[in-house]
Amino acid sequence: MRVDLRSDTVTTPSPAMREVMAHAPVGDDVYGEDATVNTLEERVAALFGKEAALFTPSGSLANQLAIRMLVSAGEELLAETNSHIVRAELGAAAVFSGITTRTWQAKRGLLNAQEVLDLARPNSGPYLVSTTAIAVENTHNFGGGTVQPIDQIAALHKGAQEMGIALHLDGARIWNAHIATGVAFADYGQYFETLSLCLSKGLGAPVGSLMLSTKEKVAKARVWRKRYGAGMRQIGILAAAGHYALDTNLALLQHDHRRAKFLANRCHAIAPSIVDPTTVDTNIVSLDLSQLPLTAAEFAQIVKTEGVLISALGPNFARLVTHLDIDDAAMEFAADVLTQTLQRALVAQ
Ligand SMILES: *Cc1c(COP(=O)(O)O)cnc(C)c1O
Repeated sequence: MRVDLRSDTVTTPSPAMREVMAHAPVGDDVYGEDATVNTLEERVAALFGKEAALFTPSGSLANQLAIRMLVSAGEELLAETNSHIVRAELGAAAVFSGITTRTWQAKRGLLNAQEVLDLARPNSGPYLVSTTAIAVENTHNFGGGTVQPIDQIAALHKGAQEMGIALHLDGARIWNAHIATGVAFADYGQYFETLSLCLSKGLGAPVGSLMLSTKEKVAKARVWRKRYGAGMRQIGILAAAGHYALDTNLALLQHDHRRAKFLANRCHAIAPSIVDPTTVDTNIVSLDLSQLPLTAAEFAQIVKTEGVLISALGPNFARLVTHLDIDDAAMEFAADVLTQTLQRALVAQ
């Protein structure tokens, strides 16, 4: 058996999803004539209570178009130090938009509104950089799939509004936050000027993200999408995968969460310091190997030889991610391989 827990991006489209893609009505999307893209953009915008949406090939592009709409060159975006925008988009905000970032550090990526508001410096005049936007990641990927408390988001929004600072949501996995908490999409949507969402993570589409905002900002972002070379033609075949994912796969995320919790519980039972299962909110399990006699890279290498792929993201930091292509049998198999490896390492100590 081969069980790939490196990311929820590794899913492959199911036969049923491919079937829907094959039969999607299409047109030239640069002309605004792809009916399947148009209905997906309208559907997702409405879901989050926003005026408009723009389909993009990646979440990074959706993030970058969004923050470009909020922050001018030479101005500042605040973001968590381990956020995707800061660490995993290759400096795009600086390279393409001249945006500087200043970061805060949060345990498990969890938002504390007051700490962030204390950092913000709007309208700083001719001497210091002015803060014009704040990005929030929900769920927080490198924080371990953590869900941002809605009361902290609301408090951040209130404070930011008083200072004239805009909020952006990196909601690549907002779907998981919704399933874990029951908070409605529109409740999240109301607090953010711009949002980005991914269809290609837990929802299992092969490609696709969306940037959401006002009609005006989305129209402007559409121009920049083309300028960046991402004007696409008959992409209704991709948007159809997004429709299918929302119809069918959204509700299945609860199983990813259950399976992640199971893996965390099994690892914790062998090596309590490796993870606190109560901190596993969604489909990501962060493993802390600092108290164990092997590094994350060594752990990943050993389990790989037994058919389980995991990510080593730091010297002592490994990550497991459950997704659509992991069923209960794969989960049991992975739990056995992970715990047997931990057991052997502890005995050899
Ligand atoms: C995956 C991800 C993105 C977008 O990534 P792409 O690979 O560009 O689609 C954005 N934010 C977070 C938190 C992510 O995990």
